[in-house]
Amino acid sequence: MAAPGVKPISYEAFRQAAEKSGRPYDFEKIDKAYALADDAHKGQVRRSGEAYVSHPVAVAMLLLDLGLDTDTLVAALLHDVVEDTAYTLEQVASGFGKDVAALVDGVTKLGRIQFSSMEEQQAENLRKMLLAMSKDVRVMLIKLCDRLHNMRTASAWPEQKQRDKALETMEVYAPIAHRLGIAGIKEELEDLSLHILDPIGYDEIIELLGQKAKAQEYVESIAAAIQERLAENDVHDPEIRSRVKSVYSIYRKMFVQNRSFEEIYDKYALRIILDTIPECYTALGVIHDMYHPLPNRFKDYISTPKPNMYQSLHTTVISHEGVAFEIQIRTHEMEQLAEYGVAAHWKYKAGVQGQDKLEERLAWVRQLLESQRDSEDSGDLLRHIKSELLPEQVYVFTPKGDVIDLPSGATVIDFAYAIHSAVGNRMVGAKVNGRIVPIDHKVVTGEVIDVLTGSVDKGPSRDWLNIVTTSEARSKIRNWFKKERKEENITEGKTALDKELRRSLVSIPAGDYDELMETVARRQRMNSAEEMYGAIGYGGITIARLMPKIKEEYAKLVKAGDPAETFAIPPKPKQQKASEGVIVEGLGNVLIKFAKCCNPLPGDDIVGFITRGYGVSIHKRDCHNASEANTSPRWVEARWAEGVQESFTSTLEITALDRDRLFVDVSSLLADMRVPVYSLSARRTSDGKAAMNAMIGIRNTEHLNNVIARLRRIKDVVDITRS
Ligand code: MN
Repeated sequence: MAAPGVKPISYEAFRQAAEKSGRPYDFEKIDKAYALADDAHKGQVRRSGEAYVSHPVAVAMLLLDLGLDTDTLVAALLHDVVEDTAYTLEQVASGFGKDVAALVDGVTKLGRIQFSSMEEQQAENLRKMLLAMSKDVRVMLIKLCDRLHNMRTASAWPEQKQRDKALETMEVYAPIAHRLGIAGIKEELEDLSLHILDPIGYDEIIELLGQKAKAQEYVESIAAAIQERLAENDVHDPEIRSRVKSVYSIYRKMFVQNRSFEEIYDKYALRIILDTIPECYTALGVIHDMYHPLPNRFKDYISTPKPNMYQSLHTTVISHEGVAFEIQIRTHEMEQLAEYGVAAHWKYKAGVQGQDKLEERLAWVRQLLESQRDSEDSGDLLRHIKSELLPEQVYVFTPKGDVIDLPSGATVIDFAYAIHSAVGNRMVGAKVNGRIVPIDHKVVTGEVIDVLTGSVDKGPSRDWLNIVTTSEARSKIRNWFKKERKEENITEGKTALDKELRRSLVSIPAGDYDELMETVARRQRMNSAEEMYGAIGYGGITIARLMPKIKEEYAKLVKAGDPAETFAIPPKPKQQKASEGVIVEGLGNVLIKFAKCCNPLPGDDIVGFITRGYGVSIHKRDCHNASEANTSPRWVEARWAEGVQESFTSTLEITALDRDRLFVDVSSLLADMRVPVYSLSARRTSDGKAAMNAMIGIRNTEHLNNVIARLRRIKDVVDITRS
C-alpha cells in the first residue's frame, strides 16, 4: 500500500544509493546530467512547493530501484528538460550521446499523448505509444516511473486533473506495467488511482483490512511453522514473506466480481522463495500435507507461465483454525521477474536468457500492431488494445493437451481461430470436455476444447463478428469475407446501409442516390461506392461511423434543391441505456456496482451514489448508508430496467430443528428449483437447532420470495431471513 504523499529525495541520497548498488555506473555522466537538469529547471517550482528538479531525481531513483543502466538514469534526470526548458534535443545529444537523446525524445513524445481525447485519436496515440515501446522498452519504463512519481504527488493537482490522470493511469499505464510484468509499479499505480477515483470504496477496504490486522500476525506464525517443516524435509533457507493483497485487487473482487470481503481468500498471502524448481514442488507437497488445500485454487504457473512470463505455484489452504490464505511458491529468479518484469533484463545482464525473455514479452506488442495494420477502422485498435491489456487470461487445452491462452471472455470461436484460420473458417461447432456447447460458449480455464469442422466451403458466419472477442479472430474472419465473398459483401453492405437509412428517416431521392454515395465513398478515401458497400459487408467499416457523413451530404443536397424545405434530422430519442439492469436517471451507460451493505435486488426500491469517477453504486432506498439520499447531490434516482434477467446473489439464514438429512433436503430443493448455490454451510447452535447459511443466485425479489416459500415447506424449518 502506498502512502499518498512522498518526501522529496535529494540528489546526494540518490547518488549514494547508486554507489551502494555496486553496479558499474558512469558517475561522471550522471553528475553532468544532474548539473544540466538543475540548471535548466532553475527557478521552476512544482505545485507541491519543491524545486522542480526534485521530480526528475525521484524518477531516476525509481529506475535505480528497478536496476536500470546509466543511460536510462541520465535520460530520467533529463526527461523534462526538452519539453519544459530552453534546452534542445540537439544539446542533449551532443552532451550525452544519441541513445540518451532518443530516450528523452521518446519520453517527451509519450508525454504529449492525451488519452482523454476522442476515441479515434486515442487509438492512434496508443499505437504510437506501443511502437515506441517495441523499439526501446526503456522509454516506457521511464514514462511509468514518471507517472508513478506524479501520482504519488497528485494531491497537489486540481481535482479534475487528479481524476483525469487517475483514469488514464488505471486504463493505460497500469495495464502496460502489468503486461511488462512489473507487479510493484502496477499495484501502486492502481491503488493511488483508486484512492482518487473512489475514496469511499478505498477507505472501506482499508478499514476492513485494519480490522484483520491480527490475522497478519497470525499468518506470520503460520510462516514459522512452515519454515520448520520445510527444514525437516531438507528444504533449507527459504525466504518467506507475508503480504497483504493490494487495495485495488480486493476492490475489484468485491465490486466487479461481486464477492464479499470474507470470500476473498487471498487477502493475506505467504510467498515462499526457494533456490530450485524441485524444491518448489517439494514445498508444495509439504504444505498440502500440513494444511487442507481448497479445491480448484491450485495453479501451476511454473509449467504453464502466464503470457507476461510470470511463473509461480499458487495454492490456497485452510489453517487448522479455519483461516484461508494463499501461498505462492517460486524460485529467486522467478521472483525477480515477477517484481521487476522486463526491467529484470538489466539486472541479469550477464545471462543471455534475459534477452530472450525480453523479446518474448515484447512479442505481443508487435503481434497486435501487425494484426491491426490492415484494419480501416482505427477505433477498433483501441477496443482491442484495451481488451487485450486486461490482465485476466484463461488457459484451455486442445484434445492433444496443448495449452492455448486467450483473454478472459473469449469464445470457442476465438479458440478455433487461435489454433489456425483454416480451423476457424471450417468450424461448425465445438465440444467442451466432450459435450457439445453453443457457438458463443465462453471458455473457462482448464476446459478441453474440440473444434468440430465441416467442409472447406462453408466459411464463418457474419454473426461471429459480434461474438468473438480477440482481434486475431476478428481480423481473420474479416479477411475471409474480404477475399471469399466479394459480391456477397457488396449486397450485404448495401442492404444494411439502406435499412439504417430508413430507420433514421433519411430518404435520398433515387436520382441522387448513386452520386451521393460516390461522394461519401471518396470522403472515406475509397475508390467507389461499391468498395464502400463491400467494406460494410465484411465489417471493415461500421455504418455508425458512416451515417454522420451521409447525413451531411444529404443535408447539402436538400438545401441546394429547395431552399424552402428546411432539412432537419429527427433528433435521436434520448435513450438511457440500462447498465447491469439498472437505469440511472440523467446518466447514460455508466459503470454500476451493487453496494455490499444492502445487496439490492430487482424489485427493491433503489437509489444511486455517484462515486468520484468510478461509476454509480446502487443501494436500497432504506439502507442506512443512503440516509443522506435526499440532501446530497451525489445521490441520484435509479430504477430497475424492464425484464432484468441477470442473476443476483442473496444470502439466506435458515434456522431449523436439527435432524438427519436436513442439509440434503435443503440442497436438493435448491437443485430442483435450478437455483445456483454459491455456498452452503450449516452449524449447530447452542440451543440444539441447526443454522444454515445459503448464498444463492436469484433473478429478482419475486423469485427470491418463491424460493423462500418453498424452503419454508421443508420439514422442521423454523425461520428464514434474508441477510
Ligand atoms: Mn516528468
